Amino acid sequence: MYGTTRGGRRSTRQRAAVLAALTACDGFTSAQTLHAALLADGVEVGLTTVYRTLHLLEAAGQVDMVRDGDGERLYRPRPADGHRHYLLCRRCGLSLAVDSEEVERWAVEVTRTTGFHDVGHTLELTGVCDGCHSGHNDGRTGS
Ligand SMILES: [Zn+2]
Ligand SMILES: [Zn+2]
Repeated sequence: MYGTTRGGRRSTRQRAAVLAALTACDGFTSAQTLHAALLADGVEVGLTTVYRTLHLLEAAGQVDMVRDGDGERLYRPRPADGHRHYLLCRRCGLSLAVDSEEVERWAVEVTRTTGFHDVGHTLELTGVCDGCHSGHNDGRTGS
């Protein structure tokens, strides 16, 4: 492997590299796919570091995370205008941003009435997209 790194400067750079690679990917991306993309770009980074960095980015609110049908975590950069909720196809991984205004209003209301602070929420919608359902989309090959 690549050996451990100490010090914050290097990890800040890795964070930026991981986020940039994630932004370049289309849609939700797994840590493994992202790791391969980083290596292809000449960024020498271990898979564990990619996992850890994605976790940090998620905690910092810079990426959104969903789980696919197998429970694998998939990541996507969070849009500048706040977080989004997605409907994810369990078969092909297609993701659609959905209108979640009602959920957001409800969350704000619950926060207000309970007196809790720093309340966050996660909401995952999964299903089978139209293409997969009608059999036109036989799953992606090579993944
Ligand atoms: Zn699908
Ligand atoms: Zn929300």
